[in-house]
Amino acid sequence: MLEEYFSDLLILAIPLRNKFRGISVREVALFRGSSGWSEFSPFLEYGDEEAAIWMQAALEAANSPWPDLYRDQVAINATLPMVDPAKVKEILAGFPGSRTVKIKVDDFENGALLVAEVLEEDAEMRIRLDINGGWSLTQARSNLLEYHLRFGNVFDYVEQPCATLDELAEIKAEVAIPIAIDESIRKRLDSDFSTISNYADVAILKWQPSGGFKAAHRIAQEIGLPVVISSALETGIGISHGLALAASFADFNSACGLGTVALMESDVSVPTTLIRDGFLEVKRREPVDFERYLAAPERVAHWKQRILRTLEHIEGRSN
Ligand SMILES: [Mg+2]
Repeated sequence: MLEEYFSDLLILAIPLRNKFRGISVREVALFRGSSGWSEFSPFLEYGDEEAAIWMQAALEAANSPWPDLYRDQVAINATLPMVDPAKVKEILAGFPGSRTVKIKVDDFENGALLVAEVLEEDAEMRIRLDINGGWSLTQARSNLLEYHLRFGNVFDYVEQPCATLDELAEIKAEVAIPIAIDESIRKRLDSDFSTISNYADVAILKWQPSGGFKAAHRIAQEIGLPVVISSALETGIGISHGLALAASFADFNSACGLGTVALMESDVSVPTTLIRDGFLEVKRREPVDFERYLAAPERVAHWKQRILRTLEHIEGRSN
């Protein structure tokens, strides 16, 4: 059954240069369909129901042409994990030409040190903070007011400062920094998005977690906010589809979070998805030089089982 869906199935395990999302190795499945190479890479802790949405995206990209594209390159933001500020310079060097940086923030002081270090490197850099829903309403209120006081208008937006929409609505009313939502979309794909503009100013969409091109466009239309496309820490293959998604929006052209292969030891992709002059080209990509990243046999067996279960989940849903 696997062979029916997948030619050239590759299970890879690629080390990350710095821990990101608490992981130090990224495991992914790459495969080829009638339209080209695709990627299925839900994080290991995700259950079959969530993984099925990623699979829907992976199968669509493998077997259907890309949507109509409005540009052939996409501006890319740098991505800064929660690292020692001494590492900022080296990490930013992986994103040459980027005019925007997204900083993962846990507590206020660590975040402030990273913001200060970035501005020290480049005073013109636009800054996005990503809190991943980690702050209470009280923390978000005081931290964001303090960031604004300390650094002024350097912030493009703050991504998901709090977990719930009610909290976001309060923050939006009180804080001068625009609000972007990420988890509020990704973790509740079946909800009513028509009121989201009461809670946020920008919507973050991701190719795999939204369920693919058609699903992402449907969600974007319902939300009615400017969108920014971000990665799910994919290899260059998944990133190629994220780039196509970004280029398929006629009206939205701000820097996208698709430069994340710089965080990995390799993007295993040709053409490369390492950014040049702040941009990435929108092109289909193929795996290259992946041999050293082939996963151990027991991990391959794990992924094949996972893929089969995910496909069964999709079959069950459509019957
Ligand atoms: Mg986020």
